[in-house]
Amino acid sequence: MRLACESVVPGLECTYVATGETAEEVHTAMMDHGAQRHANLMDGMSEEERQTMGADMSGLIYELIAENN
Ligand SMILES: [Zn+2]
Repeated sequence: MRLACESVVPGLECTYVATGETAEEVHTAMMDHGAQRHANLMDGMSEEERQTMGADMSGLIYELIAENN
């Protein structure tokens, strides 16, 4: 299974593709990648906003994995 970073957040010009045997593995890889490479997307956000964004991203990633695999 695989999911491109570009599918999650279009326009970042990021070529990363998360892969894994299960949706959970792809999800974990993508969340780790976001935290490491795109933490700047959360710049200026409050702690509450960060948590909301993280939850939204998490749900979106699972949806996209289901659609694309
Ligand atoms: Zn990326």
